Amino acid sequence: MSEIVLEKVTKLFGRVKAVDGVSFRAEAGKFVVLLGPSGCGKSTVLRLIAGLEDATEGRILIDGRDVTRLAPDKRRVSMVFQSYALFPHLSTEENIVFGLKVRGMAADERSKRLAQVSEVVGLADLLDRKPQQLSGGQRQRVALARAIIAENGICLMDEPLSNLDAQLRHGMRVEIRALQQRLGMTVIYVTHDQVEAMSMADRVVLVREGRIEQEGSPEELYARPATMFAARFIGTPGMNLISLADGADGAVVRGSRDTLFAGRGAGLTLGIRPEHVWLAHSGGVGAIVTSSEYHGADTILTVKVGEEILFMRAPGQLAQAAGTPVRLGWKPESLHLFDTATGARTAEALQPVRLAAVAG
Ligand code: ATP
Repeated sequence: MSEIVLEKVTKLFGRVKAVDGVSFRAEAGKFVVLLGPSGCGKSTVLRLIAGLEDATEGRILIDGRDVTRLAPDKRRVSMVFQSYALFPHLSTEENIVFGLKVRGMAADERSKRLAQVSEVVGLADLLDRKPQQLSGGQRQRVALARAIIAENGICLMDEPLSNLDAQLRHGMRVEIRALQQRLGMTVIYVTHDQVEAMSMADRVVLVREGRIEQEGSPEELYARPATMFAARFIGTPGMNLISLADGADGAVVRGSRDTLFAGRGAGLTLGIRPEHVWLAHSGGVGAIVTSSEYHGADTILTVKVGEEILFMRAPGQLAQAAGTPVRLGWKPESLHLFDTATGARTAEALQPVRLAAVAG
């Protein structure tokens, strides 16, 4: 059991409120991702859990024990940093067992753990190399091995993959997740990369300006973003957010005449994911293609609807010249509505909206 609970944790650096009343629970054996843009406070949350920073207010509990004022080495958590933080003059083996040696663990127990862990992370053949003789991915594995060998049950990871190239990142994402599941570790993982969050997390905690914006499974954040910020942050590209206006027969996109649904438009923002928009043969909403970007597996089409720009993602190649008039379609249930002033999802989004004109 290695459960972590934060209760209304606040951290002030002088007058800067880096963390502002954050509460969440990381259940034992779960992979929890703290996701958010640069400077939102996610690394500070991690450092508070590790004991590398002192909380200004609030409580941190590990397995029900209040650790808020406890020294880092008494909290029994391991940490993996973006920089790997390896000793350059020590071999892979020495780096991995360093912490165990400091704790005074017997040599035979150290060797036993080393043999197991180096096998698990695929470093068994590289134990005598120094960090500079290893690739970036291998160095990150040494850092992981060092965290795992402590058998703390909790591992805190701060952007551990951001120094790796795209292909290696993908491989390491899969490896870390598989390892976490095999060992039953509780992981709190900090990243600004929503793809990492979506692909690895059991639970995502989306952070904005020191506060939790939304918390849930990757599926919940994708399907029901609570705010415009969450809607835009998740997805590649993120959700389209389009300002609506009052038209003659209901809500319209600002500057467009095609009615989207009956009811008010002014003050509302419509959300629709690029992958949920298609080109309609008839009906739908009129738009003009402004550009088309071919990605191999799919194409991102940029179109203008009224005064608003919208992205649409279509499988394969979709050659559409700039200036081509098109009609756009979508399913009513793919639409989200937000209050433009507050950014929050509106209750109106809970009721089925009646689309006047949509065709496939
Ligand atoms: P990044 O992804 O860029 O690392 P982050 O979301 O992890 O960002 P933090 O590093 O937690 O953000 O920083 C949150 C805020 O607290 C920022 O405004 C930052 O400048 C400030 N901050 C962090 N550490 C300190 C410190 N030691 N002293 C003063 N301000 C700090």
